[in-house]
Amino acid sequence: MTMVVTYEQALSIVQERIAAANLRLPIETVPLDQVRGRVLAEDVTADRDLPPFHRAIRDGYALRTADLSILPAVLRCVGEVPAGRSFEAEVGSGQCVSIMTGAPLPAGADAVVMVEHTRPVDDHVEIQRSVRPWENVVLQGSEAALGTRILPRGSRLQAAEIGLLAAVGKGTVAVCRQPRVAILPTGDEVVPVERRPQWFQIRNSNAVTLAAQVASAGGAPAQLGIAPDRRDILREMIKQGLGSDLLLLSGGVSMGKFDLVEEVLADLGAEFFFQGAAIRPGKPLVFGRVRDLFFFGLPGNPVSTFVTFELFVRPALALLGGAEFEPPVFLRARLAKPCRQKTGLTMFMPARVWVQNGDPFVELVGWQGSGDLVGIAVANCFLVIHPDQIELAAGDWVDVMPKGQGLGSRD
Ligand code: AMP
Ligand code: MG
Repeated sequence: MTMVVTYEQALSIVQERIAAANLRLPIETVPLDQVRGRVLAEDVTADRDLPPFHRAIRDGYALRTADLSILPAVLRCVGEVPAGRSFEAEVGSGQCVSIMTGAPLPAGADAVVMVEHTRPVDDHVEIQRSVRPWENVVLQGSEAALGTRILPRGSRLQAAEIGLLAAVGKGTVAVCRQPRVAILPTGDEVVPVERRPQWFQIRNSNAVTLAAQVASAGGAPAQLGIAPDRRDILREMIKQGLGSDLLLLSGGVSMGKFDLVEEVLADLGAEFFFQGAAIRPGKPLVFGRVRDLFFFGLPGNPVSTFVTFELFVRPALALLGGAEFEPPVFLRARLAKPCRQKTGLTMFMPARVWVQNGDPFVELVGWQGSGDLVGIAVANCFLVIHPDQIELAAGDWVDVMPKGQGLGSRD
């Protein structure tokens, strides 16, 4: 029985099956400079108010706004407070304190007037503009109060999150172990990159593409080598991957005489959750579980492999890795040229998006189908055409999937 599902069904099957398995990766404690892309395994709270004091966000004068009812106001400057110091006395009525960005607001003051709106006059300062109470000040604890949760378990740690961890004094942090992803390309024609191929052979580009995608999705890739189209060897090589957290196969899932991946997986007792998705590229895609291990059988064509990873494996890896399921995000752009299709499939076509007069436009790149890595390298996105979009006119708003949604492109 083949089970072909729509794009949306495939996505929810992947999400539901992995969520239901409720797998938990071990937790490890890692120094902050090594956590980029990792998934937080603890709730992190603020160890102090953020900001820890009423913080000046402009260079100028700290003062009492009540003193500014008549402008210009002339105030006596009674001191100075740079960032990293504090002004211990209280600012009284008719007084001000010279203050720099990042310094704590002295007691008594309730705002900062920017230096640009002042003029020194002997030991006094002329204030030319009024300010509202607490203007140019960020109140103590307004970003987060002491003890509140600032990052929940399951957060993906990127540059901004890492900065926040540092701000609350977390020099090391509990993260989930990276999911180990075994990569197994298949095909008699596929040869290692280092080897000079015979004219009828193809270099193994999928394994390194997948490894890069896995790494950018927070996983740890492990190469199992290249499996030939032989049942016995394929079976042994798949068994090598059984201790991993996810197995990615490429090739051998179509209808050809030597497409043996599903047969061998079935022999090993695999359960299939779908065997084909109504998408292009990537129609023969397979998803299932063998013993405790989830696997994807990705079609061997390099563009299919790349796209099916982005559509299904990246979100799956997030979930396996302890984060939320992260389905692809589609953005919107206007079609530069009309487009027709009658395939009944959800299509992900290599395309380029650019901005013209403030609007994003998208156009297909020339490509020779799902084997064309040259074409996909020119693309910066995929134009998404849904099955009901048979005829699209120039100027229509359409869905676009960015080419790289990985960790590298987000920070
Ligand atoms: P298959 O899915 O096995 O029918 O393969 C589809 C196409 O993808 C064929 O033209 C293969 O030569 C090509 N292909 C399969 N595996 C790889 C690989 N690891 N690297 C590059 N191309 C591949
Ligand atoms: Mg093959």
